[in-house]
Amino acid sequence: DPELSTEYTTLLGWADEVKKLSVRANADTPEDAAKARAFGATGIGLTRTEHMFMGADRLPFVQQMILAESLEERQDALSHLLPIQENDFYGILQAMEGLPVCIRLLDPPLHEFLPSLEELLVETTKLRTSGKNAQLLTEKDSLLRKIRQLHEFNPMLGHRGCRLGITFPEIYEMQIRAIFNAAARLTKEGYTVLPEVEIPLTIDKAELIFFNDRIKTIAQEVFAAYGTSFHYSCGTMIEIPRAALLADELAEVSEFFSFGTNDLTQTCMGFSRDDAEGKFLPYYLEQKILKENPFIALDRKGVGQLMKLAVEKGRQTRPDLITGICGEHGGEPSSIVFCHQLGLDFVSCSPYRVPIARLAAAQAAVSQGENLGTR
Ligand code: PEP
Ligand code: MG
Repeated sequence: DPELSTEYTTLLGWADEVKKLSVRANADTPEDAAKARAFGATGIGLTRTEHMFMGADRLPFVQQMILAESLEERQDALSHLLPIQENDFYGILQAMEGLPVCIRLLDPPLHEFLPSLEELLVETTKLRTSGKNAQLLTEKDSLLRKIRQLHEFNPMLGHRGCRLGITFPEIYEMQIRAIFNAAARLTKEGYTVLPEVEIPLTIDKAELIFFNDRIKTIAQEVFAAYGTSFHYSCGTMIEIPRAALLADELAEVSEFFSFGTNDLTQTCMGFSRDDAEGKFLPYYLEQKILKENPFIALDRKGVGQLMKLAVEKGRQTRPDLITGICGEHGGEPSSIVFCHQLGLDFVSCSPYRVPIARLAAAQAAVSQGENLGTR
Protein backbone atom coordinates (compact mmCIF):
# COMPACT_ATOMS: atom_id res chain seq x y z
CA ASP A 1 0.00 0.00 0.00
CA PRO A 2 1.62 3.24 -1.09
CA GLU A 3 -0.39 5.11 1.58
CA LEU A 4 1.93 3.87 4.26
CA SER A 5 3.09 5.23 7.58
CA THR A 6 4.85 8.53 8.13
CA GLU A 7 8.00 6.56 9.00
CA TYR A 8 7.92 4.94 5.57
CA THR A 9 7.35 8.25 3.82
CA THR A 10 10.07 9.96 5.84
CA LEU A 11 12.59 7.20 5.22
CA LEU A 12 11.95 7.16 1.50
CA GLY A 13 12.06 10.96 1.48
CA TRP A 14 15.58 10.77 2.95
CA ALA A 15 16.48 8.16 0.36
CA ASP A 16 15.34 10.48 -2.41
CA GLU A 17 17.46 13.31 -1.02
CA VAL A 18 20.68 11.32 -1.32
CA LYS A 19 20.17 9.07 -4.31
CA LYS A 20 21.61 10.01 -7.69
CA LEU A 21 19.62 7.56 -9.79
CA SER A 22 16.05 8.36 -10.80
CA VAL A 23 13.70 5.49 -10.20
CA ARG A 24 11.19 4.86 -12.93
CA ALA A 25 8.78 1.95 -13.36
CA ASN A 26 7.86 -0.50 -16.07
CA ALA A 27 4.12 -0.15 -16.71
CA ASP A 28 1.82 -1.09 -19.56
CA THR A 29 -1.51 0.23 -18.27
CA PRO A 30 -2.73 3.51 -16.77
CA GLU A 31 -3.51 1.63 -13.54
CA ASP A 32 0.07 0.36 -13.21
CA ALA A 33 1.39 3.80 -14.10
CA ALA A 34 -0.74 5.38 -11.35
CA LYS A 35 0.45 2.71 -8.90
CA ALA A 36 4.06 3.37 -9.89
CA ARG A 37 3.60 7.09 -9.36
CA ALA A 38 2.07 6.49 -5.93
CA PHE A 39 5.11 4.36 -5.04
CA GLY A 40 7.33 7.30 -5.98
CA ALA A 41 8.35 6.50 -9.57
CA THR A 42 9.45 9.61 -11.41
CA GLY A 43 8.70 8.31 -14.87
CA ILE A 44 7.95 5.20 -16.89
CA GLY A 45 11.15 3.53 -18.05
CA LEU A 46 9.42 0.93 -20.20
CA THR A 47 5.95 0.45 -21.63
CA ARG A 48 5.89 -2.89 -23.40
CA THR A 49 3.31 -2.22 -26.10
CA GLU A 50 2.99 -5.88 -27.07
CA HIS A 51 1.14 -6.49 -23.81
CA MET A 52 -1.55 -4.15 -25.10
CA PHE A 53 -2.03 -6.34 -28.18
CA MET A 54 -3.28 -9.26 -26.12
CA GLY A 55 -6.62 -7.79 -24.94
CA ALA A 56 -9.75 -9.53 -26.22
CA ASP A 57 -10.98 -6.34 -27.94
CA ARG A 58 -7.83 -6.08 -30.05
CA LEU A 59 -6.57 -9.62 -30.63
CA PRO A 60 -8.85 -10.16 -33.68
CA PHE A 61 -7.37 -7.04 -35.34
CA VAL A 62 -3.86 -8.05 -34.33
CA GLN A 63 -4.45 -11.44 -35.92
CA GLN A 64 -5.86 -9.78 -39.04
CA MET A 65 -2.75 -7.58 -39.11
CA ILE A 66 -0.52 -10.67 -39.00
CA LEU A 67 -2.51 -12.83 -41.38
CA ALA A 68 -3.13 -10.07 -43.93
CA GLU A 69 -2.41 -11.11 -47.49
CA SER A 70 -2.02 -7.53 -48.72
CA LEU A 71 -0.92 -4.16 -47.45
CA GLU A 72 -4.53 -2.91 -47.76
CA GLU A 73 -5.77 -5.70 -45.52
CA ARG A 74 -3.03 -4.94 -42.98
CA GLN A 75 -3.79 -1.22 -43.11
CA ASP A 76 -7.44 -2.00 -42.44
CA ALA A 77 -6.53 -3.93 -39.28
CA LEU A 78 -4.15 -1.15 -38.23
CA SER A 79 -6.87 1.47 -38.70
CA HIS A 80 -8.91 -0.39 -36.05
CA LEU A 81 -5.92 -0.69 -33.74
CA LEU A 82 -4.91 2.97 -33.99
CA PRO A 83 -7.69 4.47 -31.81
CA ILE A 84 -7.35 1.61 -29.31
CA GLN A 85 -3.58 2.16 -28.93
CA GLU A 86 -4.12 5.90 -28.85
CA ASN A 87 -6.39 5.50 -25.82
CA ASP A 88 -3.86 3.17 -24.17
CA PHE A 89 -1.14 5.81 -24.52
CA TYR A 90 -3.50 8.62 -23.55
CA GLY A 91 -4.21 6.89 -20.22
CA ILE A 92 -0.57 6.24 -19.40
CA LEU A 93 0.66 9.71 -20.43
CA GLN A 94 -2.17 11.27 -18.43
CA ALA A 95 -1.36 9.22 -15.33
CA MET A 96 2.28 10.30 -15.63
CA GLU A 97 1.61 13.93 -16.51
CA GLY A 98 4.74 16.03 -16.22
CA LEU A 99 7.00 12.95 -16.10
CA PRO A 100 8.80 11.07 -18.90
CA VAL A 101 7.09 8.02 -20.38
CA CYS A 102 9.24 5.72 -22.48
CA ILE A 103 7.09 3.76 -24.92
CA ARG A 104 8.72 0.87 -26.72
CA LEU A 105 7.49 -0.11 -30.16
CA LEU A 106 6.34 -3.68 -30.74
CA ASP A 107 8.94 -6.31 -29.82
CA PRO A 108 7.94 -10.01 -29.77
CA PRO A 109 7.70 -12.50 -32.63
CA LEU A 110 4.29 -12.20 -34.31
CA HIS A 111 3.33 -15.85 -33.89
CA GLU A 112 2.89 -15.12 -30.17
CA PHE A 113 -0.43 -13.49 -31.04
CA LEU A 114 -1.74 -16.53 -32.90
CA PRO A 115 -3.13 -19.77 -31.41
CA SER A 116 -0.53 -22.45 -30.70
CA LEU A 117 0.30 -24.93 -33.44
CA GLU A 118 -0.64 -27.87 -31.18
CA GLU A 119 -4.09 -26.43 -30.39
CA LEU A 120 -4.78 -25.79 -34.01
CA LEU A 121 -3.65 -29.25 -35.10
CA VAL A 122 -6.10 -30.81 -32.64
CA GLU A 123 -8.91 -28.55 -33.89
CA THR A 124 -8.28 -29.22 -37.57
CA THR A 125 -7.99 -32.98 -37.01
CA LYS A 126 -11.35 -32.95 -35.20
CA LEU A 127 -12.96 -30.93 -37.97
CA ARG A 128 -11.51 -33.16 -40.65
CA THR A 129 -12.70 -36.40 -39.03
CA SER A 130 -16.17 -35.00 -38.33
CA GLY A 131 -16.50 -34.13 -42.03
CA LYS A 132 -18.70 -31.16 -41.01
CA ASN A 133 -18.14 -27.44 -41.53
CA ALA A 134 -15.85 -27.48 -44.56
CA GLN A 135 -15.71 -23.67 -44.58
CA LEU A 136 -14.32 -23.52 -41.03
CA LEU A 137 -11.83 -26.25 -41.86
CA THR A 138 -10.54 -24.24 -44.84
CA GLU A 139 -10.11 -21.17 -42.60
CA LYS A 140 -8.31 -23.18 -39.92
CA ASP A 141 -6.09 -24.85 -42.52
CA SER A 142 -5.01 -21.49 -43.86
CA LEU A 143 -4.29 -20.29 -40.29
CA LEU A 144 -2.25 -23.44 -39.78
CA ARG A 145 -0.22 -22.69 -42.92
CA LYS A 146 0.47 -19.16 -41.70
CA ILE A 147 1.56 -20.35 -38.25
CA ARG A 148 3.94 -22.81 -39.92
CA GLN A 149 5.32 -20.02 -42.10
CA LEU A 150 5.91 -17.86 -39.03
CA HIS A 151 7.59 -20.67 -37.11
CA GLU A 152 11.19 -19.90 -36.13
CA PHE A 153 13.78 -22.19 -34.58
CA ASN A 154 15.15 -19.39 -32.42
CA PRO A 155 12.35 -16.85 -32.03
CA MET A 156 14.23 -14.84 -29.41
CA LEU A 157 16.98 -14.26 -31.96
CA GLY A 158 14.58 -14.03 -34.83
CA HIS A 159 11.92 -11.85 -36.35
CA ARG A 160 11.24 -9.56 -33.40
CA GLY A 161 12.15 -6.10 -32.13
CA CYS A 162 12.77 -3.44 -34.72
CA ARG A 163 13.17 -6.14 -37.36
CA LEU A 164 9.37 -6.25 -37.34
CA GLY A 165 9.31 -2.52 -37.94
CA ILE A 166 11.72 -2.87 -40.84
CA THR A 167 9.64 -5.65 -42.40
CA PHE A 168 6.27 -4.02 -41.66
CA PRO A 169 6.90 -0.27 -41.26
CA GLU A 170 3.13 0.31 -41.20
CA ILE A 171 2.86 -1.43 -37.81
CA TYR A 172 5.42 0.87 -36.22
CA GLU A 173 3.89 3.87 -38.01
CA MET A 174 0.51 3.07 -36.45
CA GLN A 175 2.08 2.93 -32.99
CA ILE A 176 4.05 6.15 -33.50
CA ARG A 177 0.90 7.95 -34.71
CA ALA A 178 -1.04 6.62 -31.71
CA ILE A 179 1.62 7.98 -29.32
CA PHE A 180 1.67 11.41 -30.96
CA ASN A 181 -2.12 11.66 -31.29
CA ALA A 182 -2.53 10.81 -27.59
CA ALA A 183 0.16 13.28 -26.53
CA ALA A 184 -1.31 16.00 -28.77
CA ARG A 185 -4.80 15.52 -27.33
CA LEU A 186 -3.43 15.80 -23.80
CA THR A 187 -1.38 18.87 -24.68
CA LYS A 188 -4.51 20.53 -26.06
CA GLU A 189 -6.24 19.71 -22.77
CA GLY A 190 -3.50 21.46 -20.82
CA TYR A 191 -1.41 18.48 -19.69
CA THR A 192 2.37 18.43 -19.87
CA VAL A 193 3.51 15.27 -21.63
CA LEU A 194 7.01 13.94 -22.13
CA PRO A 195 6.79 10.96 -24.49
CA GLU A 196 9.91 9.02 -25.39
CA VAL A 197 9.77 6.68 -28.39
CA GLU A 198 11.97 3.65 -27.98
CA ILE A 199 13.25 1.22 -30.61
CA PRO A 200 13.92 -2.35 -29.42
CA LEU A 201 16.65 -4.86 -30.30
CA THR A 202 18.71 -2.44 -32.34
CA ILE A 203 22.01 -3.47 -33.90
CA ASP A 204 22.85 -0.50 -36.11
CA LYS A 205 22.47 3.24 -36.40
CA ALA A 206 20.86 2.77 -39.83
CA GLU A 207 17.86 1.10 -38.17
CA LEU A 208 17.41 4.12 -35.95
CA ILE A 209 17.66 6.50 -38.89
CA PHE A 210 14.97 4.46 -40.67
CA PHE A 211 12.60 4.95 -37.72
CA ASN A 212 13.66 8.47 -36.69
CA ASP A 213 12.72 9.75 -40.15
CA ARG A 214 9.27 8.25 -39.79
CA ILE A 215 8.87 9.56 -36.24
CA LYS A 216 9.79 13.07 -37.38
CA THR A 217 7.35 13.00 -40.31
CA ILE A 218 4.49 11.69 -38.19
CA ALA A 219 5.24 14.20 -35.41
CA GLN A 220 5.03 17.05 -37.90
CA GLU A 221 1.78 15.74 -39.36
CA VAL A 222 0.21 15.37 -35.92
CA PHE A 223 1.44 18.79 -34.74
CA ALA A 224 -0.10 20.37 -37.85
CA ALA A 225 -3.36 18.44 -37.51
CA TYR A 226 -3.81 19.34 -33.81
CA GLY A 227 -2.30 22.82 -34.00
CA THR A 228 -0.03 22.05 -31.08
CA SER A 229 3.41 20.68 -30.27
CA PHE A 230 5.32 19.21 -27.37
CA HIS A 231 8.80 17.98 -26.60
CA TYR A 232 9.52 14.32 -27.36
CA SER A 233 12.66 12.24 -27.60
CA CYS A 234 13.78 9.17 -29.54
CA GLY A 235 16.15 6.51 -28.34
CA THR A 236 17.07 2.88 -28.31
CA MET A 237 17.20 -0.20 -26.17
CA ILE A 238 20.68 -1.70 -25.86
CA GLU A 239 20.08 -5.44 -25.83
CA ILE A 240 22.64 -6.92 -28.19
CA PRO A 241 26.45 -6.76 -27.81
CA ARG A 242 26.78 -5.17 -31.26
CA ALA A 243 24.66 -2.24 -30.09
CA ALA A 244 26.94 -1.76 -27.08
CA LEU A 245 30.05 -2.01 -29.24
CA LEU A 246 28.68 0.56 -31.70
CA ALA A 247 27.23 2.82 -29.00
CA ASP A 248 29.18 5.86 -30.23
CA GLU A 249 27.43 5.54 -33.60
CA LEU A 250 24.04 4.78 -32.10
CA ALA A 251 24.30 7.86 -29.88
CA GLU A 252 24.56 10.04 -33.00
CA VAL A 253 20.88 9.31 -33.56
CA SER A 254 19.61 8.45 -30.04
CA GLU A 255 18.78 10.80 -27.22
CA PHE A 256 18.66 7.97 -24.73
CA PHE A 257 19.86 4.42 -24.20
CA SER A 258 17.94 1.96 -22.09
CA PHE A 259 19.69 -1.28 -21.25
CA GLY A 260 17.42 -4.27 -21.76
CA THR A 261 19.51 -6.49 -19.56
CA ASN A 262 17.21 -9.49 -19.91
CA ASP A 263 18.09 -9.72 -23.58
CA LEU A 264 21.60 -8.36 -23.09
CA THR A 265 22.28 -11.18 -20.61
CA GLN A 266 20.89 -13.69 -23.08
CA THR A 267 22.89 -12.36 -26.02
CA CYS A 268 26.12 -11.64 -24.13
CA MET A 269 26.26 -15.02 -22.41
CA GLY A 270 24.58 -17.01 -25.17
CA PHE A 271 22.12 -18.33 -22.55
CA SER A 272 18.52 -18.64 -23.70
CA ARG A 273 16.24 -16.59 -21.44
CA ASP A 274 13.57 -19.24 -21.89
CA ASP A 275 15.62 -22.34 -21.23
CA ALA A 276 18.73 -21.65 -19.16
CA GLU A 277 17.06 -21.60 -15.75
CA GLY A 278 15.15 -24.83 -16.38
CA LYS A 279 18.11 -26.69 -17.85
CA PHE A 280 21.78 -26.07 -17.17
CA LEU A 281 21.93 -22.93 -15.04
CA PRO A 282 21.27 -24.74 -11.72
CA TYR A 283 24.35 -26.92 -12.41
CA TYR A 284 26.46 -23.85 -13.14
CA LEU A 285 25.42 -22.45 -9.78
CA GLU A 286 25.89 -25.75 -7.95
CA GLN A 287 29.38 -26.19 -9.44
CA LYS A 288 30.12 -22.54 -8.66
CA ILE A 289 31.04 -21.88 -12.27
CA LEU A 290 28.76 -18.89 -11.86
CA LYS A 291 28.24 -17.35 -8.43
CA GLU A 292 24.80 -15.95 -9.18
CA ASN A 293 21.96 -16.37 -11.64
CA PRO A 294 22.84 -13.72 -14.24
CA PHE A 295 19.15 -13.21 -15.08
CA ILE A 296 18.61 -12.05 -11.48
CA ALA A 297 21.89 -10.43 -10.39
CA LEU A 298 23.60 -8.50 -13.16
CA ASP A 299 26.70 -10.22 -14.54
CA ARG A 300 29.16 -7.42 -13.93
CA LYS A 301 32.11 -9.12 -15.61
CA GLY A 302 30.40 -9.57 -18.97
CA VAL A 303 27.07 -7.78 -19.33
CA GLY A 304 28.21 -5.02 -16.97
CA GLN A 305 31.32 -4.37 -19.05
CA LEU A 306 29.22 -4.05 -22.20
CA MET A 307 27.05 -1.53 -20.36
CA LYS A 308 30.12 0.41 -19.21
CA LEU A 309 31.50 0.49 -22.72
CA ALA A 310 28.17 1.63 -24.15
CA VAL A 311 27.79 4.41 -21.59
CA GLU A 312 31.34 5.65 -22.22
CA LYS A 313 31.09 5.46 -26.00
CA GLY A 314 27.59 6.91 -26.05
CA ARG A 315 28.59 9.87 -23.90
CA GLN A 316 31.68 10.54 -26.04
CA THR A 317 29.32 11.23 -28.93
CA ARG A 318 26.52 12.82 -26.92
CA PRO A 319 27.53 14.13 -23.49
CA ASP A 320 23.89 14.67 -22.45
CA LEU A 321 22.82 11.14 -23.45
CA ILE A 322 20.24 9.81 -20.96
CA THR A 323 21.04 6.26 -19.85
CA GLY A 324 18.93 3.79 -17.92
CA ILE A 325 18.15 0.16 -17.33
CA CYS A 326 14.76 -1.49 -17.70
CA GLY A 327 15.55 -5.24 -17.52
CA GLU A 328 14.62 -7.21 -14.39
CA HIS A 329 17.92 -6.11 -12.86
CA GLY A 330 16.55 -2.57 -12.56
CA GLY A 331 14.72 -3.66 -9.40
CA GLU A 332 17.46 -5.79 -7.85
CA PRO A 333 19.47 -3.99 -5.13
CA SER A 334 22.99 -5.22 -5.95
CA SER A 335 22.45 -4.48 -9.65
CA ILE A 336 21.15 -1.02 -8.73
CA VAL A 337 24.41 -0.35 -6.87
CA PHE A 338 26.28 -1.26 -10.05
CA CYS A 339 24.04 1.04 -12.12
CA HIS A 340 24.82 3.86 -9.70
CA GLN A 341 28.54 3.17 -10.07
CA LEU A 342 28.18 3.25 -13.85
CA GLY A 343 26.59 6.67 -13.54
CA LEU A 344 23.29 5.75 -15.21
CA ASP A 345 20.51 8.31 -15.03
CA PHE A 346 17.70 5.92 -14.12
CA VAL A 347 16.68 2.43 -13.17
CA SER A 348 13.25 1.15 -14.09
CA CYS A 349 11.49 -1.72 -12.36
CA SER A 350 8.07 -3.14 -11.54
CA PRO A 351 5.87 -0.62 -9.66
CA TYR A 352 6.03 -2.73 -6.48
CA ARG A 353 9.82 -2.64 -6.46
CA VAL A 354 10.02 1.14 -6.73
CA PRO A 355 10.43 1.70 -2.93
CA ILE A 356 13.19 -0.94 -2.74
CA ALA A 357 14.90 0.62 -5.75
CA ARG A 358 14.73 4.06 -4.13
CA LEU A 359 16.35 2.66 -0.99
CA ALA A 360 18.99 0.72 -2.93
CA ALA A 361 19.84 3.81 -4.99
CA ALA A 362 20.26 5.82 -1.79
CA GLN A 363 22.33 3.06 -0.20
CA ALA A 364 24.62 3.08 -3.24
CA ALA A 365 25.11 6.83 -2.97
CA VAL A 366 25.68 6.73 0.79
CA SER A 367 28.15 3.87 0.64
CA GLN A 368 30.19 5.80 -1.88
CA GLY A 369 30.30 8.62 0.63
CA GLU A 370 28.28 10.91 -1.56
CA ASN A 371 25.92 13.35 0.04
CA LEU A 372 26.89 12.20 3.53
CA GLY A 373 26.46 14.96 6.03
CA THR A 374 23.58 16.60 4.25
CA ARG A 375 21.46 15.80 7.27
C1 PEP B 1 15.05 -6.65 -21.66
O1 PEP B 1 15.37 -7.37 -22.61
O2 PEP B 1 15.73 -6.51 -20.64
C2 PEP B 1 13.78 -5.92 -21.70
C3 PEP B 1 13.46 -5.05 -20.77
O3 PEP B 1 12.91 -6.24 -22.70
P1 PEP B 1 11.99 -7.56 -22.66
O4 PEP B 1 12.16 -8.19 -21.31
O5 PEP B 1 10.61 -7.10 -22.91
O6 PEP B 1 12.57 -8.34 -23.79
MG1 MG C 1 14.26 -7.19 -24.46
